[in-house]
Amino acid sequence: MARIELLDQNTINKIAAGEVVERPGSVVKELVENAVDAGATAITVEIKEGGLKQIRITDNGIGISKDQIRTAFLRHSTSKIRLATDLITIDSLGFRGEALASIASVSMVELITKEAHEMTGIRYVIEGGEEKVHEDIGCPTGTTFVIKDLFFNTPARLKFMKTPSTELGYIADLMSRLAMGHPTIGFKFISNNKVKLQTSGKDNLKDCIYNVFGKDVAKNLIQITGKQEGFEVRGFIGKPHISRGNRTYENYYINGRYIKSKVVERAVEDAFKSKLMLHRYPFVAFHMIIDTKDVDVNVHPTKIEVRFMNEKEVYHLIFRTIDAALNQRNMIPEVKIEEEKQLKMVYEPAPEPFEQSPIKPLPK
Ligand code: ADP
Ligand code: MG
Repeated sequence: MARIELLDQNTINKIAAGEVVERPGSVVKELVENAVDAGATAITVEIKEGGLKQIRITDNGIGISKDQIRTAFLRHSTSKIRLATDLITIDSLGFRGEALASIASVSMVELITKEAHEMTGIRYVIEGGEEKVHEDIGCPTGTTFVIKDLFFNTPARLKFMKTPSTELGYIADLMSRLAMGHPTIGFKFISNNKVKLQTSGKDNLKDCIYNVFGKDVAKNLIQITGKQEGFEVRGFIGKPHISRGNRTYENYYINGRYIKSKVVERAVEDAFKSKLMLHRYPFVAFHMIIDTKDVDVNVHPTKIEVRFMNEKEVYHLIFRTIDAALNQRNMIPEVKIEEEKQLKMVYEPAPEPFEQSPIKPLPK
């Protein structure tokens, strides 16, 4: 047998990247989640060729402090938890401290970031895990990441990428889910110079649904609200006639995080059972606000699966809430004609600090 040795950091990061960074969409997900955690109210995502060539993510969040940039790119470095016990009350989307290290190990990364109290920011370039540039720069408060040539040094992974239009499809779906998960954030998604999605950030889930799914869905929504100790459900369901033959209309969030859950899925579909034909799936878009100690989000590296402490309660509250809404007399339409007119005007551009003041390197 060969000698047993500890792997070097870059190799470890590349192995971890295999799990965290599966495709361009994973980069978008991780970086947008970081922007959300940084308290951004406006997030712009711009991709070229399905993100395979370039991904640019700009936020107006708190920025990264100058002396912490190198640390941020180390594996298991995070500002969001300190101890394993913090996982019990986690309220940020990230906490594993793996994304930046993983992404940087398999792509060319440029980071421009500034905190509000600083006069200048930092431009940092790291390629395949190797630092290339660390310099002062004039820029607005917030953070921009530019990711180029994803998987340039992992040809095996690159071979598994689909066509740019398929990768774009994944990212567009993801952006829709992220936008609906955070109605208080103005999202803008641009692909090959075309604006594909824009939301107002005015804390209106119905507007977000309209922007993502269009008028036909927005016109046929029923509002739902349900509450019990430590657990709340709020959002919208579609009237049964706007169902689909697959589950792409089923969107639900826990504390702002888009998740998949068999329990939730079952509660939703059981509530709709008598209203839908076999193999038809309803439209739902709702948020669950749940005490952080009653849900475990550390089940999977991409955090799409969660575990509930009390599955039965979750099932029953969701079932009851949807069942009651569906059985209201006449299922009064949520969106009335006047409201519909208003909905058309929601495409107000969100503030975009980085586009107003171009980034210039400081004179030496
Ligand atoms: P995690 O999100 O799990 O903490 P990441 O590797 O994604 O780990 O990020 C490492 C750290 O870098 C974060 O904990 C955060 O402090 C900082 N960071 C990353 N992206 C941003 C951003 N857009 N704005 C501010 N800070 C950021
Ligand atoms: Mg993160």
